[in-house]
Amino acid sequence: MSIEESQITKLAIMGGTFDPIHIGHLVTAEEVRHEFNIDEVLFVPTGHPPHKSNINMTTSEHRYLMTVLATAANANFKVSRLEIEREGVTYTIDTIKEIKKVYGRDVRLYFITGADAIHKILTWKESEELLQICDFVAVTRPGHNTEELLHQIEELKRTYQTSIHFLEVPALAISSSNIRDRIHNMKPIKYLVPQEVENYIKKYNLYEYKIYLTTEERERMCSYVASKMSPKRYAHTRGVIEMAIEFANVYKINCDEVFIAALFHDIAKELPLAEKENLCRQYKIELDDFEKRHLDLAHGKIGAAMLENEWKITKPSILDSIRYHTVGREEMCDLEKVIYLADMTEEGRSPYKGKEQIKSLALYDLNRAMYKALYSSYNYVTHLLGEEIHPITFKLLEHYKQYDL
Ligand code: NAP
Repeated sequence: MSIEESQITKLAIMGGTFDPIHIGHLVTAEEVRHEFNIDEVLFVPTGHPPHKSNINMTTSEHRYLMTVLATAANANFKVSRLEIEREGVTYTIDTIKEIKKVYGRDVRLYFITGADAIHKILTWKESEELLQICDFVAVTRPGHNTEELLHQIEELKRTYQTSIHFLEVPALAISSSNIRDRIHNMKPIKYLVPQEVENYIKKYNLYEYKIYLTTEERERMCSYVASKMSPKRYAHTRGVIEMAIEFANVYKINCDEVFIAALFHDIAKELPLAEKENLCRQYKIELDDFEKRHLDLAHGKIGAAMLENEWKITKPSILDSIRYHTVGREEMCDLEKVIYLADMTEEGRSPYKGKEQIKSLALYDLNRAMYKALYSSYNYVTHLLGEEIHPITFKLLEHYKQYDL
């Protein structure tokens, strides 16, 4: 249970960009809490810090929400909106004064921050007063030149009669920039950030890498895909690429990523049944009951597994676009919708009632086009072919109905 602000005698303030927050930050906060017998640690994500341009920084709201998710389970951790809500440039001195108003004049404050900040502290606004009204805890990660830092801390203490503590935290071997690089290079971040933060990053595609192909890579991919299918299927594939890129331009989706998803969407379609079964086993592909009865529908999942394992493309939106291009799924991203719709409307596909309408809708509203496309497949499969339809289609029809004007 968290304690009332008025009961708090020792408060630690964890200031930082938290772009994103990671396990190193949480271990640091807990370590400081234990070391200095702190009642509560208040995380304060920065708003617009004085020394930085905001161009490459994730929006404050995203950084704040990730901090809330990361700290929610700890009753001694809280998160403040103070800095992210402040207009203009934010200075620590203003934050500390505001916090004193809330927690009372007598609360003892410890400002936890990276050692780099301590090196520059005398350049901060009203730094002398700041050094008087709160303690500082300079935390370093392994490999930091502690000798120089300790020397500087001693000098600050002598000159300003201040309390600056030093703490080396091995868990800070993790850094936010390292997390961003890992996402960029398609490496896992599991266990480096709390699961909730990882889910949030995925949901909003934060720090996502972009794939750019060279002409040579494109050609190699095309030859590979062409070798797995008949000329007729490959012509359809080329048609889907063209249509998907036309749609993608409207929605500003990376063209190379659209190209890969469209190129690989049917790669497994014409593989012999035995090979499909083998690949499902080899790549441990999970099929639902409907796919087990209609193995042809598994070609999306098999194609995605081939791309991931043989070409090392791991970007979820590309893989999902291939995986679910036949029947769709709930919560499709724009790329998935683009591939689904391009597959249904490419030039080479025989004309059917509604095809032109779906194509023109896709150029200005993907959701409206999705409803028409799903409705058209439903009619085709159940009424024209008289076959069983995947149960997800009913759910999707229900969901996209709201977009049918
Ligand atoms: P930053 O860019 O987020 O961090 C710089 C370095 O220090 C990074 O290596 C970072 O590691 C580490 N770090 C920062 N805060 C940390 C923390 N609480 N615990 C552990 N490591 C931390 O942040 P910054 O620009 O140095 O700012 C830190 C705090 O100082 C903020 O609250 C900021 O508002 C304040 N500040 C105030 C002024 C001023 O008032 N004039 C000027 C500068 C800074 P990660 O990347 O892994 O987080």
